[in-house]
Amino acid sequence: MSATIIDGKKVSKEIRETLKTETAEFIEKTGVIPGLAVVLVGNDPASAVYVRNKHRACEEIGFYSEVHELPEDTKEDDLLALLDRLNGDPKIHGILVQLPLPKQIDADKVIRKIKPEKDVDAFHPENVGRIMLGNYRFLPCTPAGVMALLDAYGIDPAGKDCVVIGRSNIVGKPQAFLLLERNATVTICHSRTADLSSHTKRSDIVVVAIGKPRFLKAEMVKPGAVVIDVGINRLPDGKLCGDADFEPISAFASAITPVPGGVGPMTITMLMKNTLTAAKAAVGT
Ligand code: NAD
Repeated sequence: MSATIIDGKKVSKEIRETLKTETAEFIEKTGVIPGLAVVLVGNDPASAVYVRNKHRACEEIGFYSEVHELPEDTKEDDLLALLDRLNGDPKIHGILVQLPLPKQIDADKVIRKIKPEKDVDAFHPENVGRIMLGNYRFLPCTPAGVMALLDAYGIDPAGKDCVVIGRSNIVGKPQAFLLLERNATVTICHSRTADLSSHTKRSDIVVVAIGKPRFLKAEMVKPGAVVIDVGINRLPDGKLCGDADFEPISAFASAITPVPGGVGPMTITMLMKNTLTAAKAAVGT
């Protein structure tokens, strides 16, 4: 058996086409253009690429977008003041502060400063709480992208044994909740899990999000399992690879996401979806 390769680029493109149409209809009906503000502090090259891609995606879909580039030595108060201004700006429906932030800035304070209605990353404690209660406004972009990929390939997590490797607030924890909400039986594994293989080997769906190149080996995966690889790792030769050992696993898994071209393209697409949702909520449609 050889695995179905889950094509995140294709699924993402389809969703973006739908968003484009919905956005045009929304603008025509309300006269309001959905607006996203992205804030980048400092010179992290990977963050700069993400921010550029987010801006491009906004243009492609028909949103208004602002990029605020602040210097590395920006004071926390200045960033908070900018967020206050964006919170009150009617042109802006979504605000995203690109993480990580320089050391002098408390990321937690920044996340709490963004108005929950404009928190399209869904990192504000109010939005995190809503996800836990199953009453969400927005879903965090990467885990939502994973769920959209499963749906696009007809993979229903209900009743399945799922393991999520990684427990970050951005990926692992919300991913586990989204799978639970879809009636999976979910195990969360992390760096202190004893005998990780015993969990992965019995799982129907493995989501790996740890940031370790090719960490998930073929012998850790059950034949016929679905492997979702969230990891993005840059190898010394400059190439990207995921957290799963793609080639050997794809020989016997039922489906697997490649890196690049799997989960990655979905994250920005889900951000676009959240921005449109925020704009719709702002005008009460
Ligand atoms: P993180 O560093 O915040 O968290 C890593 C998690 O992995 C931790 O919970 C840790 O306990 C766990 N971990 C580390 N080593 C482990 C081990 N040996 N065994 C088991 N668990 C282990 O990372 P993150 O922000 O959640 O990101 C994880 C990966 O996903 C990174 O490669 C990141 O680049 C990628 N990522 C991709 C997207 C995307 O759009 N595709 C978005 C966000 C993050």
